[in-house]
Amino acid sequence: MARASEVLDVLAEVWRDLSPALPPGVPAVEAAEVRLEGGVPALAGEPLIGGPALVAGVREIGRRLQAIEGYGAAGAVSDAVARRSSTFDTELFAAAALGGMWDEMASLADGLELDAHALITLADYAARPALRAGALVVKPLVTASRWGRGTCPSCGAPPALSVRSGKEGDRTLFCPRCGTGWRYPWVRCPACGEDDHRRLGALHASGEGDFRRADVCDTCRSYVKSVAALDPPNADGVLRLDLDTAALDFAAIELGYHRDGVPDDRGGPRETGPVEHRR
Ligand SMILES: [Zn+2]
Ligand SMILES: [Zn+2]
Repeated sequence: MARASEVLDVLAEVWRDLSPALPPGVPAVEAAEVRLEGGVPALAGEPLIGGPALVAGVREIGRRLQAIEGYGAAGAVSDAVARRSSTFDTELFAAAALGGMWDEMASLADGLELDAHALITLADYAARPALRAGALVVKPLVTASRWGRGTCPSCGAPPALSVRSGKEGDRTLFCPRCGTGWRYPWVRCPACGEDDHRRLGALHASGEGDFRRADVCDTCRSYVKSVAALDPPNADGVLRLDLDTAALDFAAIELGYHRDGVPDDRGGPRETGPVEHRR
């Protein structure tokens, strides 16, 4: 298996190269503001990337990832998508990738007789430059909004992790797909909204104190990792932190907690470490 950091290096490079110009007038800022007011992610339904551009992105990402050990199938799947792009609705494909509609994506994979996990992963990766560009446009709206949800105010994805920063130790959740950060209370589960502290706990990596931990919820059995940082991470930094804290994922999953979200970003084996369960 490939080193997971190698995958992130390749992705960071290809995302830089793919970095698309958003279509004119997209995202529609006024509509985005109305959505946020109504508790809907700012970028919901925005055509940030067209079907042909997304297919081209899938092709390029598959081509570059296939050289990495364990990613050989990426080339074949992305080839098949590009070769057969006249046989399915690429605009729906793009909308599903942007909106994280993975059930729809799995149906498409079935129709094309492709591996669903591989197609979802490639489509997710290919949509990210457009999501990041869209998130930058709506960032002032998101910052000014009173978003109270545990999912990304820009694109709707579940958070990759929490970052604790500042003197007050404020909690900011970060999105793995578009890089958006948003404030969220500590004593509340992002997945189900549970705010009874007796139902919320933390798994600590030994020797790290509160520096790195997984906040767990016994109501919905989900967890979110939490790290302390001086500066908020950028979009690539969120993925690095996620990778660097993989030991916490192992520990939480081993204890029967799950992580809501997007396809696996890390793609390879992770180092485990000793972790203790504390209340
Ligand atoms: Zn997002
Ligand atoms: Zn919960």
